[in-house]
Amino acid sequence: MDIVELFCDMVRIDSESGEEEEFIRYLSGLFERELEAQCMVDHYGNLIAKLPVKGFEPETEPLMLAAHADTVKPGKGIEPVVEDGVIRSKGETILGADDKAGIAEIFEAVRTAERHPPLEIVITRSEEIGLLGAKNLDYSLISAKRGFVLDSDKLEVVIIGGPSHFSIDVEIIGKAAHAGMEPEKGISAIKAAAMAIAGLPEGRIDEETTANVGIIRGGEIRNGVPERAVVQAECRSLSHEKAVRQAELMKRAFEEAAAKLGAKAQVRIELEYRASKIPEDSSVVALAKRAIAAAGLTPATKVITGGTDASIFNAHGIETAVLGVGVRAEHSKDEHIAVADMEKAVEIIRYLLENFTQVGAAPRSTSRSSGSRTPYIVPPGR
Ligand SMILES: [Zn+2]
Repeated sequence: MDIVELFCDMVRIDSESGEEEEFIRYLSGLFERELEAQCMVDHYGNLIAKLPVKGFEPETEPLMLAAHADTVKPGKGIEPVVEDGVIRSKGETILGADDKAGIAEIFEAVRTAERHPPLEIVITRSEEIGLLGAKNLDYSLISAKRGFVLDSDKLEVVIIGGPSHFSIDVEIIGKAAHAGMEPEKGISAIKAAAMAIAGLPEGRIDEETTANVGIIRGGEIRNGVPERAVVQAECRSLSHEKAVRQAELMKRAFEEAAAKLGAKAQVRIELEYRASKIPEDSSVVALAKRAIAAAGLTPATKVITGGTDASIFNAHGIETAVLGVGVRAEHSKDEHIAVADMEKAVEIIRYLLENFTQVGAAPRSTSRSSGSRTPYIVPPGR
């Protein structure tokens, strides 16, 4: 089966976030059958497939390759169409190349590599709804200290960092009253929310920090002073400290506005993921750049403002860069991928596998966890 057929097979299996079980089972069977991998599904439903070293010294350090199993909506009943070397959906759904192209490319590269280090292929669940699979992964099953996530678009770009991201959930409780008969007895939760939002710095705060109020809901009836309003906001920054400051500022704004009117604000701040950046000259980045150059492209590095599973892996001490899979217009019904780009991605991954032993010394700490990481030690007898 060639990579196009394999990819089309994969996207025909529905796996919207939260409903990945059947697809994970399919992959487990595929990896066991075709790669002779040892497959495990952790308590959260993530798949971990392990392959022994091939063609290198037995004590070669392991490498993690990761991608995610879930797709965004609408992702049910996908019918792939191949036309003029480009794969699209029929138009009613997304295609699911985000991230099944990544999975198919990893599979094909591993299958055809002449040599590779011990491999830990990690297929996470529910990446699209908050990196949940990576956050809940059983890390005791992973020994790799370096890895690559295949989950970006452009093949020539190596993503080396991302922001800290806080979600901010606000509930304002005022006091209900009849708006016509006795409005003076009421406290408007909507007004408190409005005052807070009007006074908030929002949008682009500085070149590495953003903030947004995305959802506001409040009130029940036209003729009632609204007792309750709910606000969902977020902020992110490449600087963790700035993200913390912005989140706290937003929290205070709601608390103060509510207090001014005699209402109460309950504000919950949650860290979705923490800013991480791997050094520009780290071994995984250097190897990725060489692989991209060997495929005839000009490599570039980039820091992004969104989260990927790599944010979580880096926080767990696995130095991880994100590579492109060739997808375009992901998260839309226009999502598509060129067959030639899938083949080139396979070439790049195969290069990583076949040249991994040249990466040099164990990774240094990422900026996030300097000093707190256990150094990589080659396990005896591997
Ligand atoms: Zn993705």
